Amino acid sequence: MGSLRVWNVNSTFTGGGVAEMLRLLVGYARGSGVDARWVVIDGTSEYFAVTKRLHNRLHGAAGDDGQLGPQETALYRAVLEDNAATLHQRVEPGDIVMLHDPQTAGLARQLADRGAHVVWRCHIGTDRTNAYTREAWDFLIPHLSGCSAFVFSRTAYVPPELTGSDVWIIEPSIDPMSPKNRLLPRARMTELLTQIGLLDGPSDSARHCVLGGAGSFSPNDRLVLQVSRWDPLKDMLGVMRGFSEYVAGPNTDAKLALIGPSVESVADDPEAEKVLAECLETWAALPRRVRSHVRLVALPMHDVDANALVVNAAQRHASIVVQKSLQEGFGLTITEAMWKSRAVVASAVGGIVDQMPPGVGVLLKDPRNLESFGNTLNTLLAQPDEITRLGRRAHRHVRERFLCDRHLQELARLIEHLLSK
Ligand code: UDP
Repeated sequence: MGSLRVWNVNSTFTGGGVAEMLRLLVGYARGSGVDARWVVIDGTSEYFAVTKRLHNRLHGAAGDDGQLGPQETALYRAVLEDNAATLHQRVEPGDIVMLHDPQTAGLARQLADRGAHVVWRCHIGTDRTNAYTREAWDFLIPHLSGCSAFVFSRTAYVPPELTGSDVWIIEPSIDPMSPKNRLLPRARMTELLTQIGLLDGPSDSARHCVLGGAGSFSPNDRLVLQVSRWDPLKDMLGVMRGFSEYVAGPNTDAKLALIGPSVESVADDPEAEKVLAECLETWAALPRRVRSHVRLVALPMHDVDANALVVNAAQRHASIVVQKSLQEGFGLTITEAMWKSRAVVASAVGGIVDQMPPGVGVLLKDPRNLESFGNTLNTLLAQPDEITRLGRRAHRHVRERFLCDRHLQELARLIEHLLSK
C-alpha cells in the first residue's frame, strides 16, 4: 500500500467521537505506511446550523425546528462547493476519500468526478424512523450519487434508498494506548483532577474548569460521571435533574460530575452554548445541599492530549459512568468507560445497545424516566461488588470487540475492495 493515499474529511478536529476516531485511525494508517490525511472543512455558522439540524433529524429529533428546504440546500451546496474546489487541487485520481457524516456528504459528486473512490461514512442514525429522519434522508440522498461505498455503524441506520448499494457495517473502536485510554497511576489521576479543580488537593497549576465558582469534591467521594458534548440529545440536564432529585442527599457519599468541552472549542456544534447555559442555570437554582453534590466542568480542547488525559482520569476515578442519551449514534464514551472497567449505566438507544449485552452494564429502558434512572443509580451504589463485577465484564467485552485492531482490519478490507472494483 506504499503509494496509497486515503483522505478523511470531517467538520472538526476536536470534540466528539468522529474526531476522536480519526486521530487514532489516521495515526495508525500513517504508521503502517499509508499516506493517510485528515482535512476539516470550513463552514459558516448558518451552514453549521443546517448540518446540526440534519444531525438531529437523522436521530429522529426536531432540533431547532428550522427548515430543510431549497434555501438550506442552496446554502449547504455553496459551502461545500468552496471546500470541494480546495480539495480538488489536492486529491488525485485513484485516491480514496472517506467523507464523514452529513456535514461532508455534499462533497461526494465533485470528488468522484475528480476520479477518487469516495466513501461516505455515517456515524449517526436511529432505530426508529419518523418524519424527521425521512426529511433528513430526502435532503441527503441526492448528494450521495458519487459514492462508491457507504459505511454505517449499525444495520438499522441504513436508509432504504441505499439498499442494494455497496454498504459496509463497521463498528467504531478505541485505542487502548492513547492518552484517553491508557493506564494511569492513581496518583497521576488525582493530580490531573486536582489541577482542573474537581478534586481537593494541593495543586500549583489549577486551571479551574469547574463552573459556577463551585469548590472541589473529596477524592474519597464516590463519583457518578457523564462526559459528553453539550448537546440536547446527550441530556446532561436530565442527568443532573435525576441525580439531584433521587440520589443526592445526606445519606449518600455519591457526587455527580458532568464534563464537556468548553463551548468555544467545538465549531460545528451551534447548540452547545445554550445547553451549557441551561445546565448552569439549573445547577445554580438547586437547593444548596443538593448543589454541593453536583459539578459542571468545561474542559478546554486546544491541547487535545491534555484534554484526553483529564477525561481518562475522570473516567477511571468514577464509580459509575453514565450515558443517559436520548439518542446515540454509537457512544464512544461508553466504550472508553468499559475499557477502564467501570460500571456503566446507559440508555438503551442506538449503538449503546450493541455495546452492552446483558450483564455488561445496566441499560435504561426509558431514558426520560428520571425516577427510574435515580433508583438504578441508588441500587448500584448500594452494591459495590456488583459495580466491580460489571466493570470486569465490561473490560473483557471491549477487549474482544471494540479495540482498533479489528477496526483497522475492516477498513483495510474495504480499501482493498475499492481498489479491486
Ligand atoms: N470528549 C472529550 N472531551 C469532552 C467531551 C467529550 O474528549 O469534554 C470525547 C469523549 O471522550 C469521546 C467523544 O468525545 O471520545 C464523544 O464520542 P461519542 O461517540 O460518545 O459521542 P459524539 O460526541 O460523537 O456524539
